[in-house]
Amino acid sequence: MTVRDLWLTGGTVVDATGRDPFRADLRVSGGRIAEVVEVDPTTRPADRRGPGTAVEDVTGATVVPGFVDAHAHVGILRLHGQAALPAPVQAALVFDVLADSLAQGFTTLRDLGGVDGGLVEALRRGLVPGPRLLPSGQIISQTGGHGDLRGTAVDPRRDADPCRSGQNPGTGAPGLTLPMLLVDGADAATRAAREQFHRGATQIKVFATGGLLSHGDPIEAPQLTEAELRAVVDVAEDRGSYVTAHAHSPRGLQRAVRAGARCIEHATLVDEETVALMAASGTSAVATLTVSEVLRVDPASLGAGPVDPGDAARLRESAARAVDLLERYGVRLGCGSDLIGERQHRRGWEVALHARLSGAATALERATRVNAEICGIADEVGTLQVGKLADVAVLDGDPLAHPDLLMTARPRLVLQAGAVVARAGEVVR
Ligand SMILES: [Zn+2]
Repeated sequence: MTVRDLWLTGGTVVDATGRDPFRADLRVSGGRIAEVVEVDPTTRPADRRGPGTAVEDVTGATVVPGFVDAHAHVGILRLHGQAALPAPVQAALVFDVLADSLAQGFTTLRDLGGVDGGLVEALRRGLVPGPRLLPSGQIISQTGGHGDLRGTAVDPRRDADPCRSGQNPGTGAPGLTLPMLLVDGADAATRAAREQFHRGATQIKVFATGGLLSHGDPIEAPQLTEAELRAVVDVAEDRGSYVTAHAHSPRGLQRAVRAGARCIEHATLVDEETVALMAASGTSAVATLTVSEVLRVDPASLGAGPVDPGDAARLRESAARAVDLLERYGVRLGCGSDLIGERQHRRGWEVALHARLSGAATALERATRVNAEICGIADEVGTLQVGKLADVAVLDGDPLAHPDLLMTARPRLVLQAGAVVARAGEVVR
């Protein structure tokens, strides 16, 4: 295949730098954005055709940066019982989730627990289509914490050495997906974090409070001691990386921030004191609104049992309050779907749900530039600026006026590093 320049012509560009939308033609060359040529819509469009140059006419469409999901779990197909699926079946399902994410316009996923560098290598070699993937490996949890999926009647001797891959309570297929790793004590935490980097993690995820879809660990309870958290942070900082902590409630969240976590996931039950601490420490937050909405409309898709509608409603109200508080204190706020399951086709919901709380322009920037900043890749992706990798989604209609279209429609065209990877909602193979 000859490498050619590609023009996207006639579109309205939302470049995610904070600038208002403008009409421009984009030239892509060598995988990067080579030119953004502003166009006066009242004049005749320039003819961009030429030898060695392809043109995609996207008149009437909106051109945005490829989306970044800052909280994905492509390898978690079921919360319980995933190990009962043969490894090849799990692999096929994970590959399908990856390809489908691309078709939804998501060109980068930060995976917050489950998959490791093996999957990244499959993508890098071009064996399967999928977004740029930033894996965390296994989520580090304490025994009896949010990551302890064992039943209460488990034989503890079977998990005598929880750091040995394949013998921990996370279900999955070793080498493909292993969601959780239980640690107790700072030494175990150090080793667990080192293990994840060895297996290709780009950041470390820890559980610092209880959670929702688990039993036996109250959401208010802090998890992991400050010494355990610091041990993980030390390993990450030595690697030039960082720790992000699942934390809903103030005590555990504040402990994680004090221990040096650079990012907080969910942050659903934060109070002013906690948010002030985050702002003062420069800690980022990733709000995850899709999961509570899916709990409302389709809990079965998450493999969750029936959910008390009152609980789901309270969760949504808390999340909305948290977003408001984080915004008011100027905490850098990204967004992540936190989807799990065999079909993860609702990543775009996160953008639409943030638009309802914060406005569409802010939501689009969160899902592109801000998430790229949080992931530490903002020099390469996240905005449509000359020199950046050409990760682009072309949306029919105007997502700023009608953000809900991100819940119902897929991009007409998706570019990843300049290559057309999806068209009309289907991956180009
Ligand atoms: Zn998650």
